[in-house]
Amino acid sequence: MVEVVVRYKKSSVRLDSTRVNAFNGYEFISHAHTDHLTKARERKRVICTEETSLLAAVRGVEIKAVPPPEGFDVLSTGHMLGSAGLSIDGLFFYTGDIKLETYFFETPAIPRVECLLMESTYGSPEFLFPKPFEVLSQALDDIKYFLRREMPCVLMGYSLGKAQHLQIYFDERIECDKYTTQEIDVYNDIYRLFGYGITKKRLITGTPAHALNKRPWILYYPLRGSDDIFLKYLKKRYGAVLIAFTGWATKSEFAFGAGFDLTYPLSDHADFEELCEIVKRADPEKVLVLKGNARGLINELKRQGYSVRKVIDGNTVIDF
Ligand SMILES: [Zn+2]
Repeated sequence: MVEVVVRYKKSSVRLDSTRVNAFNGYEFISHAHTDHLTKARERKRVICTEETSLLAAVRGVEIKAVPPPEGFDVLSTGHMLGSAGLSIDGLFFYTGDIKLETYFFETPAIPRVECLLMESTYGSPEFLFPKPFEVLSQALDDIKYFLRREMPCVLMGYSLGKAQHLQIYFDERIECDKYTTQEIDVYNDIYRLFGYGITKKRLITGTPAHALNKRPWILYYPLRGSDDIFLKYLKKRYGAVLIAFTGWATKSEFAFGAGFDLTYPLSDHADFEELCEIVKRADPEKVLVLKGNARGLINELKRQGYSVRKVIDGNTVIDF
């Protein structure tokens, strides 16, 4: 497990630690996905956005948020509701999870810094995503095609983030009965609270089978394997079309391996080119990468003359 602490002036800030142990300093939580959120039940002295604080509460983590210490700034990163990075003026920027080619959030401003600590989930040159609205528009055409033939569609993405982004786009463009799950519905409420247009839906678990006989309908569902028993049932009983939205869809084997009917390369993470662009905009002397198989990104950045290395398991302290 990676743990990174950044120190500036008299303040120490621990970044996105999932550990339970307490830390004698500030905690920064970039967003409410579980791989960035503490496993502890509560956290004090947390730097995060209001949205992240609420979403964390839904996930069972009580946060006592405080303003960032002197010199630190929180910058939005376009990945999901409330997602943010942490910067120290001209010195440092931690991206958390980030998306440059956003579709419902403002484009993140990348500060010029000496040291850039960045995510690299898709840090391999094979990951190049089409523009999000092109993907969504193509998906809309395809979904309408199935609905005209009275085939229900199950639209799948991560329950927090992607599932809401799909609803913001498709809800107002598709006329038919719409369902979702409890898991997605609780996050819908928080998105709605911040003004995002997601319609209230019936929960699939409370829907009698005879209601689903009235076709077509769509169901927003968490991204699970096609061996999910409920997905199998929907396919067998109602002839539902299983449609997944994920950046991993660009890997050709995903569509076959996962057994879905359709997959679309829609991601809330930067693809390989966006990652390179983030580095270009930050113009750092040193790049540190986190996550994923980043070998391709590291090689490319070295070729461009950057000093770059991957942060590996253990404790890393960055001092300014
Ligand atoms: Zn994330």
